[in-house]
Amino acid sequence: MSSPENSQDLEFERIISPRENSEDVTALSPKESNSLRPLKFGDYIGQGRVKESLSLFIKAAAGRDEALDHVLLAGPPGLGKTTLAGIIAQELGTQIHTVAAPNIEKKGDLAAVLTNLQPRDVLFIDEIHRLQKSIEEVLYSAMEDYKLDLIIGQGPAARTLRIDLPPFTLVGATTRTGLLSTPLRDRFGVQFRLELYPTSDLEQIVHRSASLLKIAIADEAAVEIAKRSRGTPRIANRLLKRVRDYAQVIAKVPLITLPTARAALKLLEVDDRGLDSMDRRFLRTIIEKFDGGPVGIETLSAALGEEAETLEDVYEPFLIQEGLIQRTPRGRVATRQSYEHLDIPVVNLPI
Ligand code: ADP
Repeated sequence: MSSPENSQDLEFERIISPRENSEDVTALSPKESNSLRPLKFGDYIGQGRVKESLSLFIKAAAGRDEALDHVLLAGPPGLGKTTLAGIIAQELGTQIHTVAAPNIEKKGDLAAVLTNLQPRDVLFIDEIHRLQKSIEEVLYSAMEDYKLDLIIGQGPAARTLRIDLPPFTLVGATTRTGLLSTPLRDRFGVQFRLELYPTSDLEQIVHRSASLLKIAIADEAAVEIAKRSRGTPRIANRLLKRVRDYAQVIAKVPLITLPTARAALKLLEVDDRGLDSMDRRFLRTIIEKFDGGPVGIETLSAALGEEAETLEDVYEPFLIQEGLIQRTPRGRVATRQSYEHLDIPVVNLPI
């Protein structure tokens, strides 16, 4: 069994992991990879409420000649948070500076990024819930007053240096709003939660990506890929590319039809509900090892050799949305649908 230490690696190997993996970046030429990322609201499919509100706020801020208020984007990985940050900068006509919170190790790292900003630029901090507390505190005055307080020197000779920053927009992305401290969360004037995409949106995303990658695909095949993408655009794009490989190398067909898509997805072990072997193991563990639950997340984490955070961020949102598990105060519970999906007779269902 794998240990939690290497569970991150395991998770990255999953074809339907919503997290970005090296394959997303390297299997395609940088040009091809970038070409799938929408650059304007018009190309960003779905999430209508978020798009409408954001474009309104952007227009209003531009009209007042001010920086856009700070924006917090929450939601599971692969739903388009980074993409939205890029679009915001594009629509504002400014530059985006991107940094992942775990890479900001010292206050100086953050100071360097902040002092490099031009007026109205977008600073995108990914995984913002992972910011160290001391660094987070530097952000407070930067966000609120556009001031940077630095302490120069040590001991009695130490003094504070206050630097003016240009007005800027912080766009924070997080998979976990719950882990954000209240003072930080409250400093975001605009907050959105991105929801998993319905199949109809994902179908459009598959068609859009297919046309950008010059892949011929039948409508029913696009629907099939969309249905198995766990509500996540990144997974839809990845499945499309793997199905393309199958069509090219194994089926040797120029057009991806429904049977070709189904055969490819079968080979990838992605079932008709978009679950892969890891999801099925998750459900099977609750049912077979813990009598269907309730079982606490830490216990499940130990049983599966996956970090609790990965289980909560990556597996659960989709399994809950699909009605396959329920989160109760006493732990996770497998539902009737779970038993039926795995073909396990339902005995003593706890809920
Ligand atoms: P996140 O930052 O939430 O993990 P990304 O913004 O990196 O997700 O999105 C992953 C990929 O999915 C992008 O490269 C893009 O190709 C695609 N994508 C995401 N959202 C959309 C959307 N609304 N419309 C079209 N493609 C999208």
